[in-house]
Amino acid sequence: MFPDLTWVRFCFGFTTKHGKGIGVVYLVPFLDSKWKAYSLLTCLDSLTEFPEKVGPLRHNKADHGTWEGNCRQEVEFSTNDPTVLVIGAGHSGLEIAARLKYIGVSTLIIDKKPRVGDNVRPVSISVLNCRLTESRTVR
Ligand SMILES: Cc1cc2nc3c(=O)[nH]c(=O)nc-3n(C[C@H](O)[C@H](O)[C@H](O)COP(=O)(O)OP(=O)(O)OC[C@H]3O[C@@H](n4cnc5c(N)ncnc54)[C@H](O)[C@@H]3O)c2cc1C
Repeated sequence: MFPDLTWVRFCFGFTTKHGKGIGVVYLVPFLDSKWKAYSLLTCLDSLTEFPEKVGPLRHNKADHGTWEGNCRQEVEFSTNDPTVLVIGAGHSGLEIAARLKYIGVSTLIIDKKPRVGDNVRPVSISVLNCRLTESRTVR
């Protein structure tokens, strides 16, 4: 479609004082034979002060019957206050809370609906009913 269209794409890693990230660059040639960045996308992958609890940092001690009590304490915030408050327990809220837990940041999620998933449940069920009705009609 565009025979003269040329670009070079490459990925790179970078480190800042706050964390590590990755980037993607698209370089395009200009008339003066110089290459210029057409787009530069960057994403911060990790925070230096909050390393992910993976590998040697993973919790590897046996709970010996304390798991349930620890979970309750975590949910009730009986010994500490949350550092982060996430408003909305939809896909985005749950995902960010899971990521924060992974890096050891205490997080409380609140939602105006009583159960997780209540915001999509009625819509999904009505769509499913609609699909079932359509498939019956087709037959
Ligand atoms: C019919 C339908 C089918 C879908 N099917 C799929 C599928 O099969 N696969 C898929 O990946 N995606 C699907 N999606 C898309 C998916 O549901 C959305 O992309 C996803 O829910 C967006 O997540 P979110 O967390 O950004 O927003 P939401 O899911 O809307 O979450 C926002 C949350 O915030 C809460 N909230 C809002 N205001 C307040 C407030 N003031 N105080 C406290 N809480 C509040 C809401 O109750 C809700 O729980 C579907 C969407 C629809 C409508």
